[in-house]
Amino acid sequence: MNETYHIQMTREALSPDFSAAALEQIIAANLGQDSLINQVAHDHFHFDNNSFEAGYSYIATCRQNAIDAAQAGNMPLARAEFGRLTHTVQDFYAHTNYVALWRELHPQAAPEQIDPLLDSCLTDSRLHSGKLYYPLEILYFVPFLREWVLPHLPADSHAQMNKDDTSRPDFEYARIAAVHRTRLEWLRLAESLTMAEKMSLTDKKSEPA
Ligand SMILES: [Zn+2]
Repeated sequence: MNETYHIQMTREALSPDFSAAALEQIIAANLGQDSLINQVAHDHFHFDNNSFEAGYSYIATCRQNAIDAAQAGNMPLARAEFGRLTHTVQDFYAHTNYVALWRELHPQAAPEQIDPLLDSCLTDSRLHSGKLYYPLEILYFVPFLREWVLPHLPADSHAQMNKDDTSRPDFEYARIAAVHRTRLEWLRLAESLTMAEKMSLTDKKSEPA
């Protein structure tokens, strides 16, 4: 998704539990995943090109690294690992057809109702993500060429499938699923930490989740 939405979604999901300073560290690591060096040959950071196995395993690794760092008392590293994880789980909804599969089962449902982890969608054999058809795909990122290039790219291309900004169909479903998932990932991480570790990680005086 675009940087603006990664920032908004991460704030929306985590600001109740994290101090502003801790949240900024998480957001910085989230946005770092979209730096040029992390766009090339890092499909699994963004669930591009059907990199499901690598994407799921990357999320698990970041989660474990965040736990290890928090237990070792290295909170900046724990926040960075968790921040990287938030980027990848958020991109899952923007770059795959998960939302379409969920909406097929819930045609009348509003975006607020989306379940980000419905098993039957996650295990659906039709689940796939956008492929990057270079070099044409590059032109999609040039605003005035976008409309021209879209009809030349197949239905399973990143350009046709992405829900990266408000101009894209089903963006709001992807955005809300990503916010819910980010929150769930924090609750899951918190389960592995002691109260003292959680308070240090969130940098909050009151008890977090
Ligand atoms: Zn990304």
